[in-house]
Amino acid sequence: MRRVLITGGASGLGQVMARRFIAEGDRVAVCDVDPAAIEAFSNQHPDHIAALCDVTDETAMTRFLGDIESKWWGIDVVCANAGIGGPAGRIEELTLKDWQACLDVNLTGAFLTCRWAARLMRKQGSGAIILTSSTAGQFGYPLRSPYASAKWEIVGLTKTLAMELGPAGVRVNAICPGAVEGDRMDRVVAMEAAASGQSEDTVRAQYVRGVSLRAWVNGDEVADTVLWLSSDQARKISGQIIAIDGHTETLAP
Ligand code: NAD
Repeated sequence: MRRVLITGGASGLGQVMARRFIAEGDRVAVCDVDPAAIEAFSNQHPDHIAALCDVTDETAMTRFLGDIESKWWGIDVVCANAGIGGPAGRIEELTLKDWQACLDVNLTGAFLTCRWAARLMRKQGSGAIILTSSTAGQFGYPLRSPYASAKWEIVGLTKTLAMELGPAGVRVNAICPGAVEGDRMDRVVAMEAAASGQSEDTVRAQYVRGVSLRAWVNGDEVADTVLWLSSDQARKISGQIIAIDGHTETLAP
């Protein structure tokens, strides 16, 4: 039975990951900023930990992570998953506030999460950290410069932490999901359509056109890779940036 932390785990991809770890018999803790989603998660999984906590808030994170530490005395798997899409628009249309908010959640949240995980896992001499980047962390992504910047930085963080923690027996990898079916991509498509003056159908079709397998991804396909990366089968896999995206050729077809 492993001890698993998933940030942003009360809905979306994080929730799918949580459900899959729980099905494996693992103990799961999630944090999220959505009170309704946290309540629903707690009701559904009363034997696991669910807390309202913003990954950008150092004080709240210290409290939440300290609570896990005092209950579990260690951590085996950490999924630094919390993220927001940030604004859509050309750089000259973006505000500093929007830029900052996007980097805060996607990057600084991962920093605070990984800093805690690194301390515990180094002491244990074991553990797996899985950060969530994106295909936006592998390609230029017009109209989404804050998001692409944050997700490229996740790649730099992953490669660096794999080197810092590898000698202590800790593995660090990143996943890069492509466009995932669900509410979030519905919101992103609507936002990009408004910013580019195209219809939502056109934006949606463009995502598929830029992918070799001509398909979107679903949450379980992403979770399959997360479970494998966290398992003993991946014991020699570290420092890797793994796309689950049907092979993205371009984000600007
Ligand atoms: P989502 O919006 O469906 O879920 C994200 C969850 O994170 C939500 O429950 C939200 O409340 C929570 N959250 C947001 N800000 C938070 C904060 N400050 N602190 C704690 N929790 C917070 O999005 P998703 O699709 O599940 O995305 C999960 C991760 O996958 C993100 O890092 C995202 O960038 C990445 N990703 C998503 C897609 C996609 O197509 N959906 C593609 C590539 C990468």
